[in-house]
Amino acid sequence: MTEQVQHTAKDLEELAERAGRELEDAPALEILRWAADTFGPRFCVTSSMEDAVVAHLASRVLPGVDVVFLDTGYHFPETIGTRDAVAAVMDVNVITLTPRRTVAEQDAEYGPKLHDRDPDLCCALRKVKPLEEGLRGYDAWATGLRRDESPTRAGTPVVGWDPKRAKVKVSPIARWTQADVDAYVDEHGVLTNPLLMDGYASVGCAPCTRRVLEGEDARAGRWAGRAKTECGLHG
Ligand code: SF4
Repeated sequence: MTEQVQHTAKDLEELAERAGRELEDAPALEILRWAADTFGPRFCVTSSMEDAVVAHLASRVLPGVDVVFLDTGYHFPETIGTRDAVAAVMDVNVITLTPRRTVAEQDAEYGPKLHDRDPDLCCALRKVKPLEEGLRGYDAWATGLRRDESPTRAGTPVVGWDPKRAKVKVSPIARWTQADVDAYVDEHGVLTNPLLMDGYASVGCAPCTRRVLEGEDARAGRWAGRAKTECGLHG
C-alpha cells in the first residue's frame, strides 16, 4: 500500500473526477485497489446487507476494511442476520450506525408510521443523518450501486464526487450486471441476504420494501406506489 496523504476537499474533488475518468473501464478490484492505496483507513464500504459483494471485493485489497451498516430499526430479521454473518466470517470490520432516536422515540415525537406519511423525513432521520455523521472520519466510501438497477442509477460513475458529504464516492461494480453479481457470488461463495431467494430483488426497510413482479426493475419493490425511488443517500 502506498503512503496516504491528508487531502483537502478541493483535492478530493479533483482526485474523484480524475479517477472517475481514468478508471471507467477498470475492473472492480483495480478501482478498489486505487481507493485502498489512496485513502487507506480513511476509506470504508457501506453495505445494506443485501449481499456482501463489495465488502468481499474490498477485503481482498484492504483486509479488515470498515464496512458500515445503517441499522434503521426497520430492517428485516434476515438483513440483521446477514450483517451478523458477514461480521463473523469475513475479514472486515462491521460498524453499525443507528439513528439518534429509536423507532419508539420517533413514534412518540412524530406519530407512528412516519414512513407511510412522510418517507422523505423518515429516511432523513433514520438514514441520511446517521450516515452523514458516521462518514465523518472517512475521505471516501464505496457503495454497491449499479447502472442497470434503475434509470436513476444509469449514470453512476465508478468514482465520483459526493458534494453532500464532501467525500469521494466509489462504485466499483457500477458497470456490473445482475449476471456479473450472481457469477461473483457463486465463484466466491459470498454471503447474500436470504430474501433475495424469496422474490425480493432489492432489500431495504421492511415497511418500504415488497417483492418485485416479473419484468419490473430491481428497485421497483422499494417505496412501491410512491414517486420516491431513493432514500437520499445517493441523490
Ligand atoms: Fe423510514 Fe422506509 Fe426510509 Fe426506512 S426506507 S428510513 S422505514 S421511510
